Amino acid sequence: MEAKSKDLWVFIETKEDGSAKNVGIELLNPGRELANKQGGKLVAVVVGYNTKAAVEEAGKHGADQIIVVDGEEYKVFSTDAYKLAMLHVIEKYAPTTILIGATPEGRDFAPRLSCNLKTGLTADCTGLDIDDETGNMIWTRPTFGGNLMACIMCPDNRPQMGTVRPGVFKKPAETENKAEVITEDFHVTPDQIRTEVLKVMKESAADFVDLEGADIIVSGGRGVGGADGFKILKDLADALGGVVGASRAAVDEGWISHSHQVGQTGKTVGPKLYIACGISGAIQHAAGITGSDVIVAINKDADAPIFDIADYGVVGNLFDIVPVFTEEVKKL
Ligand code: FAD
Repeated sequence: MEAKSKDLWVFIETKEDGSAKNVGIELLNPGRELANKQGGKLVAVVVGYNTKAAVEEAGKHGADQIIVVDGEEYKVFSTDAYKLAMLHVIEKYAPTTILIGATPEGRDFAPRLSCNLKTGLTADCTGLDIDDETGNMIWTRPTFGGNLMACIMCPDNRPQMGTVRPGVFKKPAETENKAEVITEDFHVTPDQIRTEVLKVMKESAADFVDLEGADIIVSGGRGVGGADGFKILKDLADALGGVVGASRAAVDEGWISHSHQVGQTGKTVGPKLYIACGISGAIQHAAGITGSDVIVAINKDADAPIFDIADYGVVGNLFDIVPVFTEEVKKL
């Protein structure tokens, strides 16, 4: 497909209440810089139901233009409805580049969309840039178990499409700019939706943890030694107003649920403070935490690789250090 504009689009995924999920707003941050480099507008595309809150969020975080597809059929995610809505607006406006969050929903409809558009899709990116010479996007994503970073281009086809992991970019600062809002009256009929949602299973409240939205994360690894070891991390997290994360080793041992896993096959996080306790700092774990503002490592092995990426390190036994740390925090 020929691009009609140099515009860069960011898909703003919505929740059932019509507000924006974090990832879409985060993507407006790199989107701004990339749109400027491309010489086009930064366009937010909002699909959902009663999307006023999401449209306002996208506007105040720097979108130049917002395209809205609003309808009851978009309230609960459906692959067909979302794909058809996006296909409609893409074919009408033909942008050059589209960024979509690598959420379960984004990972579901983005490949179908790119297939319908006969263009490429780079999935699960952690870095975005533009090649100055050709103007093509350079999509960066981990490969070979996180041991290599692949840089991928889609030189011939448009739009260039990629999904980007949540938590990799920070939300952009709020602006006073007023975005132009275009409402597309596009609806899909029930017979176009080939699936029916019978039941929505929610994680139990005890298991749910919002790692991607957390400002403070206290994470534990194999060094925590068992499910009981996580109790002292939870005490510290509670004292700091944070949440508990984990390495894959701890999750695989069954000490804590997978929703707490940080890293390449877990969540990519970007808190203000990340405290890694008894975590060695394997590349697959490090891949998920480099967006943190400050990393503190507590490890009894002074040569553990986690100290290479930590801003502050404490060499010692976490069972001696963490309770003292918690008591000191409680005094503040
Ligand atoms: P270990 O590497 O065993 O480290 C334990 C650390 O605890 C050691 O450094 C030790 O010195 C320290 N320690 C022990 N006792 C104490 C104590 N009492 N006090 C202080 N320190 C102590 N891993 C992830 O975390 N997230 C992922 O998403 C992920 N995805 C992966 C994807 C692939 C394809 C592959 C191949 C691997 C992936 N891994 C992932 C696994 C990763 O390679 C490591 O095996 C894992 O991160 C190790 O976890 P760990 O640091 O808790 O354990």
